[in-house]
Amino acid sequence: MRTMADFSSWMDLALAQARQASASADVPVGAVIVHSSGTVLGSGRNRREADADPTAHAEILALRAAAAAVGSWHLEGCTLVVTLEPCPMCAGAALAARVDRIVFAAWDPKAGAAGSVWDLPRDRNSLHRCEVVAGVREAESAALLRSFFAPKRNEPPTPPPPKLGSAPPADCGRQNLSEHSQVSAGSGAGGGKQVT
Ligand SMILES: [Zn+2]
Repeated sequence: MRTMADFSSWMDLALAQARQASASADVPVGAVIVHSSGTVLGSGRNRREADADPTAHAEILALRAAAAAVGSWHLEGCTLVVTLEPCPMCAGAALAARVDRIVFAAWDPKAGAAGSVWDLPRDRNSLHRCEVVAGVREAESAALLRSFFAPKRNEPPTPPPPKLGSAPPADCGRQNLSEHSQVSAGSGAGGGKQVT
C-alpha cells in the first residue's frame, strides 16, 4: 500500500527531471516510472524541442527507459509519476504498458487526458484502466511551468514606429506633455477633463 508520502517523494524525482528540460527550451515536464518495490525503473524529461520529436514527451521517454530496464513492454505493477497531467498520447502509452497507477502534479486543462479534457485511464472503453492520483506537488509544478512561460509573455513589444502627422516632433511633444498635452495633441476628446 502506497501513501501520499511515497508519491510526493517520487514526484521529487520527476520535478528534478522537469527542471532539466527547461535548459533546452522545452516545456518543463518530467516523469519517472516506479516499480511496485519502490525502485525507479526509468525517467525522462520533455525533449520535444531538443530532439525535434513530437513524441519525445517525458512520459514516453520514461516508459521506454523502464521497458528497456526490465526487458519487457509489460509494466504491470508500475506507477507513472509525472509533473503534468498526461496528454492523450502519453496516457495511451501508459495504458498500453499496463501501468497500475498514474500520479501527476499539475492539471492540463487544455490537453490533459487523465481527468480534465479526457479521462482515458478510467474510460470504460479503454482496454486497460488504472488508478489516477492527481495534484501531488501541484503548486511546485505549476510554478515551474509559470516561470517557464512568464518570460515569453513579458517579452517587450517591438517599439512603436515614430508618430507622424500633425503632432509635433517626439522630443517636443514629450517635453510639453506635462504642461499642455491636450493642446499639442490637438484632440478634443477628453479635453474637458484637463484642468490646465
Ligand atoms: Zn504527452
